[in-house]
Amino acid sequence: MTRRLDLQPVIDSGMCIGCGVCLHVDDTLELTLDATTQAVTPSHASTAEAAAVCPAIGVDFPALHEWLFEATDVGPFGVVDEVFLAQSTDADRNLSASSGGLIKEMLIELLGRPDVDGAIALTHVDGLDFQPVLLNHPDEVDTLPGSIYHALSQPQALELLRSNEGRFVLVAIPCQLEGIYQWIRAHEPSLRDRIHTTIGLLCGWQFNHHALRAICQFKGIDFDAISDIAYRGGGPIGKLRITTRDPDTADHEEHTIGRRVDFGYQVAFDRSFNLPRCHVCIDHSNFLADVVVGDAWLPSTVTSRTGVSLIVSRTPEATALLHDLDAGGRVTTLTVTTDEVRESQKERIAFGDFAYAYADHRRALGLHTPEMTGPNRVAASPVDPDEVKRFHAEFERKRELQAARRYRFLWWRKATVELRRHIGRYVNWALVRVLKVKSLFGGRKEPDRGDMARFR
Ligand SMILES: Cc1cc2nc3c(=O)[nH]c(=O)nc-3n(C[C@H](O)[C@H](O)[C@H](O)COP(=O)(O)OP(=O)(O)OC[C@H]3O[C@@H](n4cnc5c(N)ncnc54)[C@H](O)[C@@H]3O)c2cc1C
Ligand code: SF4
Ligand code: SF4
Repeated sequence: MTRRLDLQPVIDSGMCIGCGVCLHVDDTLELTLDATTQAVTPSHASTAEAAAVCPAIGVDFPALHEWLFEATDVGPFGVVDEVFLAQSTDADRNLSASSGGLIKEMLIELLGRPDVDGAIALTHVDGLDFQPVLLNHPDEVDTLPGSIYHALSQPQALELLRSNEGRFVLVAIPCQLEGIYQWIRAHEPSLRDRIHTTIGLLCGWQFNHHALRAICQFKGIDFDAISDIAYRGGGPIGKLRITTRDPDTADHEEHTIGRRVDFGYQVAFDRSFNLPRCHVCIDHSNFLADVVVGDAWLPSTVTSRTGVSLIVSRTPEATALLHDLDAGGRVTTLTVTTDEVRESQKERIAFGDFAYAYADHRRALGLHTPEMTGPNRVAASPVDPDEVKRFHAEFERKRELQAARRYRFLWWRKATVELRRHIGRYVNWALVRVLKVKSLFGGRKEPDRGDMARFR
């Protein structure tokens, strides 16, 4: 793989995802929130050594797969041992989680085992700040937040791993894990033994802070007074809940916004608010994690009141963990096939149909693009070049509008020129998920209704 000289292309392109591993190579580096893009960025170009571990420069998936799984023959869904639909049997834990509450169930189980010394997972610090912490006891797990979708900087995950003796469970999004493993492989391969299990999140995108500024503007919320935020919980989709603290009285107020139907939410969390790297990301299924947890967005789970998780277990140990949790009555599982991953994520995401095409387009324009060829490349059908060309022009224009904080303009744009496309998405959702047209026309087979009855 050709490596660029330093992090300057990452700074210029806004491709940083805040994994923080470059700080472990160059201690003069800092991660800051860029005022224009409202995303995390490294403070300066640093060196080739920092660039060599940076997942915004490139990720060597074949080498990492061989190193981690001793596997060279990896399929388009990565290494797959078993695929499950799963839900915590604890109704409260399930309801407060983002999907089925499976991450917390796995953490509680693993933290109770004698060969696990702790778990490194994201927790809330203050305001929009969330940081990885080291948990030592199963009782601490229910204090963790659900999924946090805004841009974060997380150098502490590797810091905790480096500075503590023992064996740890690590919870991470895909690009974060890419950075951590690239650093470990290059700088301290023995550290890999400290990782007992990696629990990966499936990940479609992260949002820059303009998204939060925009929703605050639409709803009359004081962005600077945000003291906490939750995106999920209370049902399968969940509501965005922004808590503000009155600076004079210290009173807290919670603002609740529907994620599926609220028009302001749809504008503020439009995909143009995603980090640029998310649009060229081909690792949404978290190829490097031992076990991956995502939402089961399926026709068969659309009636779930509390949410169901989609699990890709990549190792026999992770599969055994799921079976143990089921046997112990803590989790309900149903073994399914990779078809459910394809349907839940769509091929565009699972195989990178859009990302591979967009990466090619960016390279043709001479724009920095991370070098990444995943095991899904063989299954990808890159979308039409005209589609990525249109997307790029629109993305750049919208990023300019975001930089100028013209969120109202974006609101009106979605309400007028983009309205047809916007409504089209709801129609598509209703046809595929509710009316199950694919199954009706023989395009796929849904899991048996009787089998699905085990989920709430
Ligand atoms: C940025 C992001 C994007 C996602 N996109 C998708 C998607 O497109 N499709 C899909 O199916 N699933 C996606 N997920 C995963 C999904 O939201 C749920 O997290 C997943 O189904 C696990 O559900 P749960 O009920 O077990 O987890 P939860 O109980 O919600 O627990 C999640 C745990 O993960 C950790 N965590 C939360 N946010 C982060 C973060 N930003 N970085 C690192 N660790 C974190 C926390 O410690 C938390 O305890 C995404 C998650 C994130 C964080
Ligand atoms: S992506 Fe990670 S390694 Fe690269 S610049 Fe950003 S924080 Fe540093
Ligand atoms: S979509 Fe990819 S690049 Fe974006 S946050 Fe998720 S793993 Fe990282």
